[in-house]
Amino acid sequence: MLSNPRVTIDAIKKYNFTFQKKFGQNFLIDDHVIGKIIAAAEITKEDTVLEIGPGMGNLTQHLAENAGKVYAVEIDKKLIPILHETLSSYENVEIIEGDILKTDIGALTEGRKLKIVANLPYYITTPIIMSLLEGHVPAESITVMVQKEVAERMAAGPGTKDYGAISLAVQYYSEPYLAANVPPNCFIPRPVVGSAVIRMKIHEKPPVQVKDEKFMFKLIKASFGERRKTLQNGIYNFPELDISKEAVADALNKVGLDERIRGEKLTLEEFARLSDILGR
Ligand code: SAM
Repeated sequence: MLSNPRVTIDAIKKYNFTFQKKFGQNFLIDDHVIGKIIAAAEITKEDTVLEIGPGMGNLTQHLAENAGKVYAVEIDKKLIPILHETLSSYENVEIIEGDILKTDIGALTEGRKLKIVANLPYYITTPIIMSLLEGHVPAESITVMVQKEVAERMAAGPGTKDYGAISLAVQYYSEPYLAANVPPNCFIPRPVVGSAVIRMKIHEKPPVQVKDEKFMFKLIKASFGERRKTLQNGIYNFPELDISKEAVADALNKVGLDERIRGEKLTLEEFARLSDILGR
């Protein structure tokens, strides 16, 4: 299988494949790590899996062996004929050429409940995760390899240095769990940064109630706009919001928070309460 480094190296030579930096291509060549991804995602024959960026099929081969059905969406045209060969013995895999950010996932997978799995291209990790979460894609879970620091930010709690808008977004839509740390030598070519596998179990119902989630996320974005700013100044100076300093101070008082508090101290629950007070 391609997860054996020698097989991947031979395939690269056979197909005369050249890595495209612009697509964030780092292929996984470690069976043990692939096993951890499959275990974290809890893939069974009952499952339909959507894989983002199958590359040459290193992870896809294992997904196909463990899942009922696999949809694999790959942007690099040159990889499509290669994937048709490396996955030719699996009848349960559908290869789709396309950009995941422009793919109608619900239509492609006919509304089936999905487990999303990927060794993500690092250059667009956050846009991909945010579009899956905010787009309310029909997913039970999202299990992805990302840059280690990104995984830490996604799972961080209030008051820690890694806590920010991405932590709040991930935790509003899901329950994150850091499944494994992965060193650079598990990939060809080796990335310059460390990686980690994170699994997000999608909440059936968000953990907090808020009247307007879009407005709450604008407030969150404003609050983390500049690290040294207080939340009050961040919101007041945020062009899309048009909220006075007094209104922010008043709302903070109602929630029982200090006027000089910084965004990184607030819990999701507190942002939801502020949002309900400040929203119109
Ligand atoms: N899954 C393979 C593996 O683990 O060996 C490849 C992972 S590699 C880190 C990321 C893959 O995502 C590449 O094959 C790249 O071409 C593909 N990709 C990059 N941007 C994409 C996009 N917007 N939509 C779909 N695939 C994309």
